[in-house]
Amino acid sequence: MNQASERNWARNYRYAALIVHPTSIDEVQELVAAASQVRALGSRHSFNAIADSPGILLALGRVDNAIVIDPAAMSVTVSGGTTYGTLAVELERQGYALHNLASLPHISVAGAIATGTHGSGDQNGSLATAVTALEIVTGSGELLRVSRASTPDFAGMVVALGALGIVTRVTLDIQPAFDVRQFVYENLPWTSVLENFDAVMSSAYSVSLFTDWQGESADQAWVKSRNDDFAGESEFFGGAPATKGRHPLPNISAVNCTEQLGVAGPWSERLAHFRMAFTPSNGEELQSEYHVPREHAVAAIEAMRTLSDRIAPLLLVSEVRSIAADDLWLSPNFERAGVALHFTWKPEQAAVEALLPALEAGLAPFAVRPHWGKLFHADAELLATRYRRFNDFRALADRLDPAQKFRNAFLERTVFGRVRV
Ligand SMILES: Cc1cc2nc3c(=O)[nH]c(=O)nc-3n(C[C@H](O)[C@H](O)[C@H](O)COP(=O)(O)OP(=O)(O)OC[C@H]3O[C@@H](n4cnc5c(N)ncnc54)[C@H](O)[C@@H]3O)c2cc1C
Repeated sequence: MNQASERNWARNYRYAALIVHPTSIDEVQELVAAASQVRALGSRHSFNAIADSPGILLALGRVDNAIVIDPAAMSVTVSGGTTYGTLAVELERQGYALHNLASLPHISVAGAIATGTHGSGDQNGSLATAVTALEIVTGSGELLRVSRASTPDFAGMVVALGALGIVTRVTLDIQPAFDVRQFVYENLPWTSVLENFDAVMSSAYSVSLFTDWQGESADQAWVKSRNDDFAGESEFFGGAPATKGRHPLPNISAVNCTEQLGVAGPWSERLAHFRMAFTPSNGEELQSEYHVPREHAVAAIEAMRTLSDRIAPLLLVSEVRSIAADDLWLSPNFERAGVALHFTWKPEQAAVEALLPALEAGLAPFAVRPHWGKLFHADAELLATRYRRFNDFRALADRLDPAQKFRNAFLERTVFGRVRV
Protein backbone atom coordinates (compact mmCIF):
# COMPACT_ATOMS: atom_id res chain seq x y z
CA MET A 1 0.00 0.00 0.00
CA ASN A 2 1.07 3.57 -0.56
CA GLN A 3 0.33 6.43 1.78
CA ALA A 4 -2.42 8.77 0.71
CA SER A 5 -1.15 12.01 -0.88
CA GLU A 6 -0.25 10.76 -4.32
CA ARG A 7 -1.14 13.01 -7.20
CA ASN A 8 -2.46 12.73 -10.76
CA TRP A 9 -0.30 13.21 -13.87
CA ALA A 10 -0.97 16.95 -14.04
CA ARG A 11 -0.29 17.24 -10.28
CA ASN A 12 -3.39 19.41 -9.88
CA TYR A 13 -5.23 16.74 -7.88
CA ARG A 14 -4.14 14.89 -4.74
CA TYR A 15 -5.97 11.58 -4.18
CA ALA A 16 -7.59 11.33 -0.76
CA ALA A 17 -7.77 7.53 -0.98
CA LEU A 18 -5.09 5.06 0.00
CA ILE A 19 -3.71 3.55 -3.23
CA VAL A 20 -3.38 -0.24 -3.22
CA HIS A 21 -1.57 -2.32 -5.88
CA PRO A 22 -3.09 -5.81 -6.07
CA THR A 23 -1.12 -8.38 -8.06
CA SER A 24 -3.93 -10.74 -9.09
CA ILE A 25 -7.61 -10.67 -9.95
CA ASP A 26 -8.30 -12.85 -6.89
CA GLU A 27 -6.75 -10.15 -4.74
CA VAL A 28 -8.86 -7.48 -6.47
CA GLN A 29 -11.97 -9.52 -5.66
CA GLU A 30 -10.97 -9.92 -2.01
CA LEU A 31 -10.13 -6.22 -1.61
CA VAL A 32 -13.42 -5.13 -3.18
CA ALA A 33 -15.49 -7.56 -1.12
CA ALA A 34 -13.87 -6.34 2.09
CA ALA A 35 -14.00 -2.59 1.33
CA SER A 36 -16.86 -0.27 2.14
CA GLN A 37 -15.71 2.27 -0.48
CA VAL A 38 -13.40 1.42 -3.37
CA ARG A 39 -12.67 2.51 -6.95
CA ALA A 40 -10.12 1.85 -9.67
CA LEU A 41 -7.24 4.16 -10.53
CA GLY A 42 -5.86 4.05 -14.08
CA SER A 43 -2.73 5.80 -15.28
CA ARG A 44 -3.83 9.04 -13.50
CA HIS A 45 -4.22 11.12 -16.66
CA SER A 46 -7.58 12.66 -15.70
CA PHE A 47 -7.53 16.27 -14.58
CA ASN A 48 -10.36 16.17 -12.04
CA ALA A 49 -11.49 14.12 -9.04
CA ILE A 50 -13.23 11.45 -11.14
CA ALA A 51 -11.03 8.56 -10.02
CA ASP A 52 -10.83 9.24 -6.30
CA SER A 53 -12.61 7.29 -3.56
CA PRO A 54 -13.48 8.03 0.06
CA GLY A 55 -12.07 4.54 0.74
CA ILE A 56 -9.29 2.81 -1.22
CA LEU A 57 -8.13 3.01 -4.84
CA LEU A 58 -6.99 -0.09 -6.70
CA ALA A 59 -4.25 0.45 -9.30
CA LEU A 60 -4.15 -2.55 -11.64
CA GLY A 61 -0.72 -2.09 -13.22
CA ARG A 62 0.67 -5.22 -11.49
CA VAL A 63 -2.29 -7.50 -12.35
CA ASP A 64 -1.80 -10.10 -15.12
CA ASN A 65 -0.56 -8.08 -18.07
CA ALA A 66 -0.99 -10.79 -20.71
CA ILE A 67 -2.10 -9.62 -24.14
CA VAL A 68 -4.24 -12.36 -25.69
CA ILE A 69 -5.07 -12.09 -29.38
CA ASP A 70 -7.93 -14.15 -30.83
CA PRO A 71 -7.31 -14.14 -34.61
CA ALA A 72 -10.62 -15.89 -35.37
CA ALA A 73 -12.68 -13.32 -33.49
CA MET A 74 -10.31 -10.49 -34.50
CA SER A 75 -10.14 -9.34 -30.89
CA VAL A 76 -7.58 -8.81 -28.16
CA THR A 77 -8.07 -9.19 -24.40
CA VAL A 78 -5.93 -7.22 -21.94
CA SER A 79 -5.85 -6.38 -18.26
CA GLY A 80 -7.64 -3.09 -17.52
CA GLY A 81 -4.37 -1.51 -16.38
CA THR A 82 -2.55 -2.13 -19.69
CA THR A 83 -1.57 1.07 -21.48
CA TYR A 84 -2.49 1.68 -25.11
CA GLY A 85 1.19 2.18 -25.85
CA THR A 86 2.15 -1.29 -24.63
CA LEU A 87 -0.83 -2.84 -26.40
CA ALA A 88 -0.16 -1.01 -29.68
CA VAL A 89 3.46 -2.20 -29.86
CA GLU A 90 2.43 -5.84 -29.34
CA LEU A 91 -0.48 -5.70 -31.79
CA GLU A 92 1.72 -4.15 -34.47
CA ARG A 93 4.40 -6.78 -33.83
CA GLN A 94 1.84 -9.50 -34.52
CA GLY A 95 0.33 -7.77 -37.58
CA TYR A 96 -2.77 -6.22 -36.01
CA ALA A 97 -4.11 -2.77 -35.23
CA LEU A 98 -6.65 -0.82 -33.21
CA HIS A 99 -8.89 1.58 -35.10
CA ASN A 100 -7.51 4.64 -33.35
CA LEU A 101 -5.45 6.08 -30.49
CA ALA A 102 -5.69 9.18 -28.29
CA SER A 103 -3.02 11.90 -28.52
CA LEU A 104 -0.96 10.21 -25.80
CA PRO A 105 -0.36 6.42 -25.75
CA HIS A 106 0.50 6.23 -22.05
CA ILE A 107 -3.11 6.09 -20.79
CA SER A 108 -4.61 2.84 -19.49
CA VAL A 109 -7.23 0.98 -21.52
CA ALA A 110 -9.81 0.74 -18.71
CA GLY A 111 -9.29 4.37 -17.68
CA ALA A 112 -9.61 5.64 -21.25
CA ILE A 113 -12.76 3.74 -22.11
CA ALA A 114 -14.33 4.71 -18.77
CA THR A 115 -14.29 8.40 -19.76
CA GLY A 116 -15.02 8.18 -23.51
CA THR A 117 -11.46 9.05 -24.54
CA HIS A 118 -11.07 9.55 -28.29
CA GLY A 119 -8.74 10.44 -31.13
CA SER A 120 -9.90 12.06 -34.36
CA GLY A 121 -11.51 10.96 -37.63
CA ASP A 122 -14.99 11.29 -39.11
CA GLN A 123 -15.36 7.51 -39.32
CA ASN A 124 -13.65 6.77 -35.99
CA GLY A 125 -15.72 6.26 -32.87
CA SER A 126 -14.12 6.87 -29.47
CA LEU A 127 -11.74 4.19 -28.13
CA ALA A 128 -14.67 2.73 -26.15
CA THR A 129 -16.47 1.78 -29.36
CA ALA A 130 -13.93 -1.00 -29.91
CA VAL A 131 -14.90 -2.73 -26.65
CA THR A 132 -16.65 -6.07 -27.23
CA ALA A 133 -16.49 -7.52 -23.72
CA LEU A 134 -15.60 -6.59 -20.14
CA GLU A 135 -14.79 -8.47 -16.98
CA ILE A 136 -15.91 -6.42 -13.96
CA VAL A 137 -15.42 -7.06 -10.25
CA THR A 138 -18.71 -5.90 -8.73
CA GLY A 139 -19.27 -4.69 -5.16
CA SER A 140 -19.74 -8.20 -3.76
CA GLY A 141 -16.36 -9.21 -5.17
CA GLU A 142 -17.91 -11.36 -7.90
CA LEU A 143 -16.55 -11.42 -11.45
CA LEU A 144 -19.18 -10.29 -13.94
CA ARG A 145 -18.52 -11.05 -17.62
CA VAL A 146 -20.49 -8.91 -20.04
CA SER A 147 -20.37 -8.61 -23.81
CA ARG A 148 -21.68 -6.54 -26.69
CA ALA A 149 -23.19 -9.71 -28.20
CA SER A 150 -25.07 -11.03 -25.20
CA THR A 151 -25.58 -8.47 -22.41
CA PRO A 152 -28.69 -6.28 -22.77
CA ASP A 153 -27.34 -3.14 -21.03
CA PHE A 154 -23.77 -3.48 -22.33
CA ALA A 155 -24.00 -0.05 -23.99
CA GLY A 156 -24.35 1.44 -20.50
CA MET A 157 -21.36 -0.43 -19.08
CA VAL A 158 -18.42 0.76 -21.19
CA VAL A 159 -18.21 4.52 -20.64
CA ALA A 160 -19.07 3.96 -16.99
CA LEU A 161 -16.80 6.42 -15.14
CA GLY A 162 -15.66 3.64 -12.82
CA ALA A 163 -19.12 3.65 -11.22
CA LEU A 164 -20.07 0.02 -11.85
CA GLY A 165 -17.00 -1.80 -10.52
CA ILE A 166 -13.36 -2.58 -11.19
CA VAL A 167 -12.77 -3.52 -14.85
CA THR A 168 -10.14 -6.25 -14.71
CA ARG A 169 -10.18 -7.32 -18.37
CA VAL A 170 -11.18 -5.61 -21.59
CA THR A 171 -11.71 -7.22 -25.00
CA LEU A 172 -11.31 -4.96 -28.03
CA ASP A 173 -11.95 -5.26 -31.76
CA ILE A 174 -8.76 -5.44 -33.80
CA GLN A 175 -8.04 -5.29 -37.52
CA PRO A 176 -5.06 -6.01 -39.77
CA ALA A 177 -2.14 -3.62 -39.24
CA PHE A 178 -1.98 -0.61 -41.54
CA ASP A 179 0.41 2.19 -42.37
CA VAL A 180 -0.22 5.87 -41.74
CA ARG A 181 1.40 8.96 -43.24
CA GLN A 182 1.18 12.18 -41.27
CA PHE A 183 1.22 15.63 -42.88
CA VAL A 184 1.18 18.98 -41.11
CA TYR A 185 -0.06 22.21 -42.68
CA GLU A 186 0.41 25.70 -41.25
CA ASN A 187 -1.68 28.88 -41.13
CA LEU A 188 -5.02 27.81 -42.56
CA PRO A 189 -7.28 30.87 -43.00
CA TRP A 190 -10.42 30.48 -40.85
CA THR A 191 -12.58 31.69 -43.75
CA SER A 192 -11.43 28.72 -45.81
CA VAL A 193 -11.62 26.21 -42.93
CA LEU A 194 -15.11 27.24 -41.82
CA GLU A 195 -16.54 27.47 -45.36
CA ASN A 196 -15.25 23.96 -46.06
CA PHE A 197 -15.40 22.44 -42.58
CA ASP A 198 -16.83 19.06 -43.60
CA ALA A 199 -14.35 18.74 -46.46
CA VAL A 200 -11.45 19.63 -44.13
CA MET A 201 -12.34 17.09 -41.46
CA SER A 202 -13.18 14.30 -43.92
CA SER A 203 -10.10 14.77 -46.09
CA ALA A 204 -8.21 11.88 -44.44
CA TYR A 205 -8.52 9.08 -41.87
CA SER A 206 -7.83 11.47 -38.97
CA VAL A 207 -7.65 15.27 -39.04
CA SER A 208 -6.90 17.65 -36.14
CA LEU A 209 -6.76 21.42 -36.16
CA PHE A 210 -4.61 23.31 -33.66
CA THR A 211 -5.43 26.91 -32.78
CA ASP A 212 -5.19 29.62 -30.14
CA TRP A 213 -8.54 31.00 -31.44
CA GLN A 214 -6.85 34.34 -32.16
CA GLY A 215 -6.18 35.98 -35.48
CA GLU A 216 -7.55 35.01 -38.87
CA SER A 217 -6.04 31.55 -39.28
CA ALA A 218 -5.80 28.18 -37.54
CA ASP A 219 -2.16 27.51 -36.66
CA GLN A 220 -1.84 23.88 -37.83
CA ALA A 221 -3.73 20.96 -39.36
CA TRP A 222 -2.44 17.44 -38.63
CA VAL A 223 -3.63 15.10 -41.37
CA LYS A 224 -3.16 11.36 -40.82
CA SER A 225 -3.57 9.43 -44.04
CA ARG A 226 -4.43 5.71 -44.09
CA ASN A 227 -3.87 3.68 -47.24
CA ASP A 228 -3.01 6.88 -49.04
CA ASP A 229 -6.54 8.31 -48.62
CA PHE A 230 -4.75 11.68 -48.64
CA ALA A 231 -1.86 12.24 -51.00
CA GLY A 232 -0.06 15.14 -49.29
CA GLU A 233 -1.24 18.12 -51.33
CA SER A 234 0.96 21.16 -51.86
CA GLU A 235 -1.73 23.28 -50.22
CA PHE A 236 -4.51 22.37 -47.71
CA PHE A 237 -7.48 24.76 -47.55
CA GLY A 238 -5.14 27.72 -47.79
CA GLY A 239 -2.52 26.23 -45.44
CA ALA A 240 1.07 25.54 -46.51
CA PRO A 241 2.88 22.24 -45.81
CA ALA A 242 5.24 22.35 -42.84
CA THR A 243 8.84 21.97 -43.96
CA LYS A 244 10.02 20.35 -40.72
CA GLY A 245 8.41 18.38 -37.88
CA ARG A 246 6.05 20.48 -35.76
CA HIS A 247 4.93 20.37 -32.14
CA PRO A 248 1.35 21.61 -31.57
CA LEU A 249 2.80 24.47 -29.52
CA PRO A 250 4.86 27.16 -31.25
CA ASN A 251 8.61 27.17 -30.63
CA ILE A 252 8.77 23.70 -29.08
CA SER A 253 10.85 20.96 -30.69
CA ALA A 254 8.93 18.17 -32.42
CA VAL A 255 11.37 15.55 -31.10
CA ASN A 256 8.67 13.97 -28.91
CA CYS A 257 5.99 14.06 -31.61
CA THR A 258 5.16 11.16 -33.91
CA GLU A 259 6.82 11.20 -37.33
CA GLN A 260 5.46 13.72 -39.85
CA LEU A 261 6.41 15.00 -43.33
CA GLY A 262 4.40 12.22 -45.00
CA VAL A 263 6.83 9.43 -44.07
CA ALA A 264 4.86 6.15 -44.05
CA GLY A 265 5.02 4.02 -40.92
CA PRO A 266 3.01 1.75 -38.62
CA TRP A 267 -0.35 2.94 -37.23
CA SER A 268 1.08 2.41 -33.73
CA GLU A 269 3.70 5.12 -34.35
CA ARG A 270 1.51 7.68 -36.14
CA LEU A 271 -2.08 7.71 -34.79
CA ALA A 272 -1.09 9.25 -31.44
CA HIS A 273 0.49 12.71 -31.57
CA PHE A 274 3.21 11.90 -29.04
CA ARG A 275 5.75 9.09 -29.12
CA MET A 276 5.47 6.19 -26.70
CA ALA A 277 9.19 6.47 -25.95
CA PHE A 278 8.57 9.97 -24.64
CA THR A 279 7.20 9.35 -21.14
CA PRO A 280 6.30 12.53 -19.32
CA SER A 281 5.78 11.51 -15.69
CA ASN A 282 3.79 14.64 -15.07
CA GLY A 283 2.55 17.64 -16.98
CA GLU A 284 2.71 21.39 -16.59
CA GLU A 285 -0.77 21.80 -18.02
CA LEU A 286 -4.50 21.40 -17.43
CA GLN A 287 -7.11 20.35 -19.95
CA SER A 288 -10.82 20.80 -20.74
CA GLU A 289 -12.71 19.48 -23.75
CA TYR A 290 -16.21 20.05 -25.07
CA HIS A 291 -18.15 17.91 -27.55
CA VAL A 292 -20.74 19.52 -29.82
CA PRO A 293 -22.83 17.92 -32.58
CA ARG A 294 -21.10 17.99 -35.95
CA GLU A 295 -23.75 20.22 -37.54
CA HIS A 296 -22.97 22.93 -34.98
CA ALA A 297 -19.18 22.71 -35.30
CA VAL A 298 -18.74 25.93 -37.25
CA ALA A 299 -21.02 27.94 -34.93
CA ALA A 300 -19.26 26.49 -31.89
CA ILE A 301 -15.82 27.41 -33.27
CA GLU A 302 -17.07 30.92 -33.99
CA ALA A 303 -18.39 31.16 -30.43
CA MET A 304 -14.94 30.27 -29.08
CA ARG A 305 -13.27 32.79 -31.37
CA THR A 306 -15.49 35.54 -29.95
CA LEU A 307 -14.21 34.57 -26.47
CA SER A 308 -10.56 34.46 -27.57
CA ASP A 309 -9.53 37.54 -25.56
CA ARG A 310 -10.60 35.76 -22.37
CA ILE A 311 -9.25 32.36 -23.44
CA ALA A 312 -5.83 33.43 -24.75
CA PRO A 313 -4.18 34.52 -21.47
CA LEU A 314 -4.76 31.04 -19.99
CA LEU A 315 -4.32 28.89 -23.10
CA LEU A 316 -1.34 26.86 -24.29
CA VAL A 317 -3.12 25.45 -27.34
CA SER A 318 -6.52 24.15 -28.51
CA GLU A 319 -7.28 21.19 -30.75
CA VAL A 320 -10.40 20.51 -32.85
CA ARG A 321 -11.15 16.85 -33.62
CA SER A 322 -14.08 14.91 -35.13
CA ILE A 323 -15.57 11.71 -33.72
CA ALA A 324 -18.19 9.30 -35.11
CA ALA A 325 -21.50 8.71 -33.31
CA ASP A 326 -21.92 5.71 -30.99
CA ASP A 327 -24.56 4.03 -28.85
CA LEU A 328 -22.75 4.12 -25.47
CA TRP A 329 -25.09 5.79 -22.98
CA LEU A 330 -22.65 8.19 -21.29
CA SER A 331 -20.34 8.69 -24.27
CA PRO A 332 -20.05 12.36 -25.29
CA ASN A 333 -20.70 11.02 -28.80
CA PHE A 334 -23.86 9.14 -27.83
CA GLU A 335 -26.27 9.20 -30.78
CA ARG A 336 -24.47 12.05 -32.51
CA ALA A 337 -21.39 12.54 -34.65
CA GLY A 338 -19.42 15.25 -32.96
CA VAL A 339 -16.61 17.70 -32.95
CA ALA A 340 -14.50 18.07 -29.82
CA LEU A 341 -13.05 21.45 -28.88
CA HIS A 342 -10.06 20.76 -26.66
CA PHE A 343 -8.19 23.29 -24.48
CA THR A 344 -4.71 22.73 -23.06
CA TRP A 345 -4.47 25.33 -20.32
CA LYS A 346 -1.58 26.82 -18.41
CA PRO A 347 -1.46 25.30 -14.90
CA GLU A 348 -3.56 28.11 -13.41
CA GLN A 349 -6.48 26.12 -12.06
CA ALA A 350 -8.43 28.83 -10.23
CA ALA A 351 -8.41 31.14 -13.25
CA VAL A 352 -9.28 28.29 -15.63
CA GLU A 353 -12.17 27.14 -13.46
CA ALA A 354 -13.44 30.71 -13.27
CA LEU A 355 -13.52 30.86 -17.07
CA LEU A 356 -15.22 27.51 -17.73
CA PRO A 357 -18.80 28.66 -16.98
CA ALA A 358 -18.44 31.30 -19.72
CA LEU A 359 -17.16 28.70 -22.21
CA GLU A 360 -19.95 26.30 -21.30
CA ALA A 361 -22.54 29.09 -21.62
CA GLY A 362 -21.14 29.96 -25.06
CA LEU A 363 -21.50 26.33 -26.11
CA ALA A 364 -24.84 25.69 -24.35
CA PRO A 365 -26.94 26.39 -27.49
CA PHE A 366 -25.22 23.33 -29.02
CA ALA A 367 -26.12 20.91 -26.20
CA VAL A 368 -22.44 20.66 -25.29
CA ARG A 369 -21.16 17.58 -23.44
CA PRO A 370 -17.86 17.86 -21.51
CA HIS A 371 -15.07 15.27 -21.53
CA TRP A 372 -15.59 13.35 -18.29
CA GLY A 373 -11.88 13.21 -17.44
CA LYS A 374 -11.05 16.91 -17.86
CA LEU A 375 -11.99 20.14 -16.04
CA PHE A 376 -15.63 21.22 -16.46
CA HIS A 377 -18.34 23.04 -14.57
CA ALA A 378 -21.64 21.32 -15.49
CA ASP A 379 -23.50 19.28 -12.85
CA ALA A 380 -25.85 16.30 -12.89
CA GLU A 381 -28.96 18.43 -13.27
CA LEU A 382 -27.64 19.94 -16.48
CA LEU A 383 -25.96 16.82 -17.84
CA ALA A 384 -29.16 14.81 -17.38
CA THR A 385 -30.69 17.01 -20.07
CA ARG A 386 -27.84 16.23 -22.48
CA TYR A 387 -27.93 12.39 -22.33
CA ARG A 388 -31.12 10.50 -23.24
CA ARG A 389 -30.07 7.42 -21.23
CA PHE A 390 -28.76 9.34 -18.18
CA ASN A 391 -31.43 8.01 -15.81
CA ASP A 392 -30.99 4.52 -17.24
CA PHE A 393 -27.32 4.72 -16.30
CA ARG A 394 -28.22 5.80 -12.78
CA ALA A 395 -30.61 2.85 -12.49
CA LEU A 396 -27.93 0.48 -13.85
CA ALA A 397 -25.46 1.71 -11.22
CA ASP A 398 -28.09 1.24 -8.49
CA ARG A 399 -28.60 -2.33 -9.69
CA LEU A 400 -24.92 -3.32 -10.05
CA ASP A 401 -23.67 -1.35 -7.03
CA PRO A 402 -26.53 -1.31 -4.50
CA ALA A 403 -24.15 -0.57 -1.60
CA GLN A 404 -22.76 2.44 -3.54
CA LYS A 405 -19.17 1.27 -2.99
CA PHE A 406 -18.01 2.81 -6.26
CA ARG A 407 -19.39 6.31 -5.70
CA ASN A 408 -17.38 9.45 -4.94
CA ALA A 409 -17.96 13.19 -4.57
CA PHE A 410 -17.25 13.86 -8.26
CA LEU A 411 -19.90 11.38 -9.36
CA GLU A 412 -22.39 12.81 -6.84
CA ARG A 413 -21.90 16.22 -8.43
CA THR A 414 -21.98 15.16 -12.06
CA VAL A 415 -24.11 12.00 -12.27
CA PHE A 416 -25.86 10.83 -9.12
CA GLY A 417 -26.84 14.23 -7.66
CA ARG A 418 -30.23 15.86 -7.96
CA VAL A 419 -31.79 15.87 -11.43
CA ARG A 420 -35.19 16.98 -12.68
CA VAL A 421 -37.28 13.92 -13.51
C1 LIG B 1 -1.39 14.49 -21.76
C2 LIG B 1 -2.80 13.99 -21.88
C3 LIG B 1 -3.32 13.75 -23.13
C4 LIG B 1 -4.64 13.31 -23.26
N1 LIG B 1 -5.12 13.09 -24.51
C5 LIG B 1 -6.42 12.74 -24.68
C6 LIG B 1 -6.95 12.54 -25.98
O1 LIG B 1 -6.25 12.60 -26.98
N2 LIG B 1 -8.26 12.24 -26.08
C7 LIG B 1 -9.08 12.15 -24.99
O2 LIG B 1 -10.28 11.91 -25.17
N3 LIG B 1 -8.59 12.28 -23.73
C8 LIG B 1 -7.28 12.57 -23.57
N4 LIG B 1 -6.77 12.72 -22.30
C9 LIG B 1 -7.63 12.42 -21.15
C10 LIG B 1 -7.48 10.96 -20.72
O3 LIG B 1 -7.50 10.10 -21.83
C11 LIG B 1 -8.63 10.54 -19.80
O4 LIG B 1 -8.66 11.36 -18.69
C12 LIG B 1 -8.53 9.05 -19.39
O5 LIG B 1 -9.65 8.73 -18.61
C13 LIG B 1 -7.26 8.78 -18.64
O6 LIG B 1 -7.13 7.41 -18.41
P1 LIG B 1 -6.37 6.90 -17.09
O7 LIG B 1 -6.01 5.50 -17.30
O8 LIG B 1 -5.29 7.84 -16.75
O9 LIG B 1 -7.54 6.96 -16.03
P2 LIG B 1 -7.63 7.71 -14.62
O10 LIG B 1 -7.50 9.17 -14.85
O11 LIG B 1 -6.71 7.09 -13.66
O12 LIG B 1 -9.16 7.36 -14.26
C14 LIG B 1 -10.19 7.83 -15.08
C15 LIG B 1 -11.49 7.09 -14.76
O13 LIG B 1 -11.37 5.73 -15.18
C16 LIG B 1 -11.72 4.89 -14.10
N5 LIG B 1 -10.93 3.67 -14.20
C17 LIG B 1 -9.60 3.55 -14.39
N6 LIG B 1 -9.26 2.25 -14.40
C18 LIG B 1 -10.39 1.55 -14.21
C19 LIG B 1 -10.70 0.18 -14.10
N7 LIG B 1 -9.75 -0.76 -14.19
N8 LIG B 1 -11.98 -0.20 -13.86
C20 LIG B 1 -12.95 0.73 -13.76
N9 LIG B 1 -12.73 2.05 -13.87
C21 LIG B 1 -11.46 2.45 -14.09
C22 LIG B 1 -11.38 5.68 -12.85
O14 LIG B 1 -12.07 5.19 -11.72
C23 LIG B 1 -11.83 7.06 -13.27
O15 LIG B 1 -13.22 7.17 -13.10
C24 LIG B 1 -5.44 13.11 -22.12
C25 LIG B 1 -4.90 13.32 -20.84
C26 LIG B 1 -3.58 13.75 -20.73
C27 LIG B 1 -2.99 13.95 -19.36
